[in-house]
Amino acid sequence: MGFAPIPKAPREGHAAPNLDDYDRVSATFRWDEAERALEHQPGGGLNIAHEAVTRHARGARAQQVAIRWLGKDGLGADAPPGARVELTYADLERESARFANALAALGVAPGDRVFGLCPRVPELYVAAFGALRHRAVFSPLFSAFGPDPIAQRLELGDARVLVTTERLYRRKIEPIRDRLPALAHVVVIGDRREPSGAPTPTSTPGTLDWRALVGDASDTHAIPETDPETPALLHFTSGTTGTPKGALHVHRAVLTHHVTGSLALDLHPGDVYWCTADPGWVTGTSYGIVAPLTNGVTMLIDEADFDVARWYRILAEEKVQVWYTAPTAIRMLMRAGLEPLAGADLSALRFLASVGEPLNPEAVVWSHAAFGAPFHDNWWQTETGGIMVANYASMEVRPGSMGRPLPGIEAAIVEVLDDGRVKVIDAPDTEGQLALRAGWPSMFRAYVNAEERYRKCFARDEAGDEWYLSGDLSRRDADGYYWFVGRADDVIKSAGHLIGPFEVESVLVEHPAVVEAAVIGKPDEVAGDLIKAFVVLHRGHEGTSELVKELLGFARARLGPAATPREIDVVQGLPKTRSGKIMRRLLRARELGLPEGDTSTLEEDVGGAKKESDS
Ligand code: ATP
Ligand code: MG
Repeated sequence: MGFAPIPKAPREGHAAPNLDDYDRVSATFRWDEAERALEHQPGGGLNIAHEAVTRHARGARAQQVAIRWLGKDGLGADAPPGARVELTYADLERESARFANALAALGVAPGDRVFGLCPRVPELYVAAFGALRHRAVFSPLFSAFGPDPIAQRLELGDARVLVTTERLYRRKIEPIRDRLPALAHVVVIGDRREPSGAPTPTSTPGTLDWRALVGDASDTHAIPETDPETPALLHFTSGTTGTPKGALHVHRAVLTHHVTGSLALDLHPGDVYWCTADPGWVTGTSYGIVAPLTNGVTMLIDEADFDVARWYRILAEEKVQVWYTAPTAIRMLMRAGLEPLAGADLSALRFLASVGEPLNPEAVVWSHAAFGAPFHDNWWQTETGGIMVANYASMEVRPGSMGRPLPGIEAAIVEVLDDGRVKVIDAPDTEGQLALRAGWPSMFRAYVNAEERYRKCFARDEAGDEWYLSGDLSRRDADGYYWFVGRADDVIKSAGHLIGPFEVESVLVEHPAVVEAAVIGKPDEVAGDLIKAFVVLHRGHEGTSELVKELLGFARARLGPAATPREIDVVQGLPKTRSGKIMRRLLRARELGLPEGDTSTLEEDVGGAKKESDS
């Protein structure tokens, strides 16, 4: 798409990349050998909490800060007491031990489901590791969900215990509590800064106060031997393409977490690392709870929501070295321009990574200019449990490409045949479905209560080998770089061509007036589908008919007539999931006047694709 590759350029004065030579490491990588980097339990068991916390708490990192929590008012040297909380690895060991012991005292059995519905507060992380120690399944939910989506997920996930805050309890759990007979215990975290003064909800049977519960429990706990196939984490997908699915992961996933943290995110022990994702999404757990700690870093947790000035302050003041975020945030930073960045010293920053949606080449090039280092796009899904395709620190970045498969992961472009089998396409530059050879450590083991659906995700090739089908279309170039085309559901069939929305959107955002774009297919008698684009403009631009004409010409010159949108609407915002993904299915439904389907993960504050002129 006309963007030159960005040569590998380790930042001067910074640690050398963990993955020094992609080709060599990929050729020789073996999971059983990689497993030696983990400690394992004395009897050979494998438990995520042991690898992330206990092993460090017993060793040289015991007094290193594992979690530095920044409350909403926790920035700067004059933050009020309690607005910043630091937990060392030893603290996290003791606190998670207390919660594990408390679960045992409540009669919670291994395998029971413990849910979290919390803003990003320190107790959430303690609860996660406490549950994992106990061999319960931990399932973090995004705290901005309304009561109904929460009830749906608690029900589907068969929740036995829920950890939440007092505020959320009153607003969201009380109204649904009697719909959830299986929910035996709700543990309520009191507000640390503004106690409500209202009678505590703990007078309700089955409702417990966090502090009383963990305060009474012992702070030593030996993690029972854990079979690596023991269920550990339950994550709901983002609901971008339909009703969210609950993907179940096992303790063995920690091997992928650890390896990808090291090879794909380039985490070095002792690094200051910031993952901006909420644990309610898989990124915020795999790379916001587990992988950073198995790799011995100091992990920042920001309680507050996205804010340009705040983010640059955090990066500078906390001397962040590795930063993992998402395209939607990067586009918002682009939209804010470079002014808020002026004077921020980001010289500590070594590695920037992005996931969740396709990262427009424009954003990669912009970040390289703005931060002196480009964002490294990587691809994975709730189902894969960890990063599968990535741009690595030691490899040239091709803007617009998701990178190359993780060492140990065999990816392929496949065609699904009529008989249900798949054919691996060896020829480069051919579009097809992105598939992964089944059996990597963090592969999901089930969709809860949807066995048939789970089975349908896998298919065999002519040699009988089993592949996981991602549902995403992609192509691989001759050098092995993967290029995202679109979700299978979003691909547009127009006048005999298959068009991926990402390519069209990326061209539109290259135009200086456009900050964000979404492209859908709209049924048309002649063309099959005609391409319709929705664009959001940078500040200071107006959605005049001249601009729309200019954009059409701009797109046509770069994409050719077949892939050029026929219609462009200038809108104020795009409908997105709460994790920031553009929901094209909703744009399509609204455009065609069809039912909207599951909107439980829809972000509320964006009024959909309203035309600028409508508002
Ligand atoms: P649902 O499955 O409920 O529709 P979802 O697929 O958005 O939601 P996630 O598992 O959170 O749920 O997201 C994974 C998907 O996000 C991928 O299948 C892909 O479509 C998209 N994605 C993630 N990372 C990238 C990336 N780097 N480039 C392009 N697409 C990406
Ligand atoms: Mg999905």
